[in-house]
Amino acid sequence: MPKKIVKKGKKSHKNKPTSKKYTKYKIDGDKITRERNCPRCGPGIFLMKAKNRVYCGKCTYSEFESKK
Ligand SMILES: [Zn+2]
Repeated sequence: MPKKIVKKGKKSHKNKPTSKKYTKYKIDGDKITRERNCPRCGPGIFLMKAKNRVYCGKCTYSEFESKK
């Protein structure tokens, strides 16, 4: 029986940006503005901003942004 050749070695490691959680914090000058929290998941879980809506990746809660 031919031996299976198992490739060893780690996957090429890309430099990961810092935890995505922190990308939700925007620092604008001296102000730190946060994305909205998910009303279902509570604080700590932020809603992702889509084009005209916000979306929670955890519970898939989504909410359309009202136009102002
Ligand atoms: Zn959620």
